Amino acid sequence: MEITEVRVSLREHEGRRLKAYATVTFDNSFVVRNIKVIQGNSDLFVAMPARKIKQFCPRCGKKVEMGSKYCSNCGAQIPPPKEQLQNRHSIHQDLAHPINQQFRDYLQSKVLDAYYQKKNSESERQPEQTKESSEVESQSEKQESEESSGEEKAE
Ligand SMILES: [Zn+2]
Repeated sequence: MEITEVRVSLREHEGRRLKAYATVTFDNSFVVRNIKVIQGNSDLFVAMPARKIKQFCPRCGKKVEMGSKYCSNCGAQIPPPKEQLQNRHSIHQDLAHPINQQFRDYLQSKVLDAYYQKKNSESERQPEQTKESSEVESQSEKQESEESSGEEKAE
């Protein structure tokens, strides 16, 4: 399977680990949104779209926080989560994900390439902005010189 398009929308906020969202198209025919570019402890990595696994009170049916022992609504005791849900990672469940390391690596490199490209193109825009502002400055200088020449005429 081939990745035929990657769209990246940057989410650069200082101190946050989320760097960007990516929308990835596979074989020109299948799109997965909400893929995230995350700043890990050392490297950037790609996280697949995920949902939080929810737990419900067996008595009143209200949603309860994962791992809580009693329902905050009715006080009923909540049975402990199943063993496979006890480790932290299992609280989030990937909605779509590669099932082998080869495709995982391929997807990650494609998304990160697109991320760096987008980042570079964003930073290239800044010199253009300074150019525009210098043009505005030279225009105002021109106006000033026209005004001063007008003053000369008035004299
Ligand atoms: Zn309850």
